[in-house]
Amino acid sequence: MSKRKKAVIHRLPEIIARDGGEWVCHYCGKKLIPYGTPSNTEPYYVYKIQQALPTQVLHMPTYDDYERYMGMWMGGDIQCWLGYYVMNPEYRRAVADHVIPYAKGGTHDLSNLVASCDNCNARKSTKDYDEFIEYLGQQS
Ligand SMILES: [Zn+2]
Repeated sequence: MSKRKKAVIHRLPEIIARDGGEWVCHYCGKKLIPYGTPSNTEPYYVYKIQQALPTQVLHMPTYDDYERYMGMWMGGDIQCWLGYYVMNPEYRRAVADHVIPYAKGGTHDLSNLVASCDNCNARKSTKDYDEFIEYLGQQS
């Protein structure tokens, strides 16, 4: 992942909290793989992970855990709690999307960021927000 993306993706827990606490894609509404820190993560997710996996989870995943385990996933070595989400097709990988594209002068400010799945983020690319919403409407 590029350094520029990492500059905003760690702000996802803040973005999620601002938008009501649900880990869902702003554009398509699909569930996102949750991660964060104990201080800013909904207890629901800790409970859910503990129920789903045999290993006790001592902390919620941080951004570094997320990257590390995503790397393990890419390499086919799934044996962690995050694997539950990664293997579950209901969940998509979470990214922070720039409402006004960074390439068009959008900032890294929280006000310019929404939670998105990697699929929508890739499809939006450098489209403007309204342009992409219209595009999504045409697809459905
Ligand atoms: Zn999406």
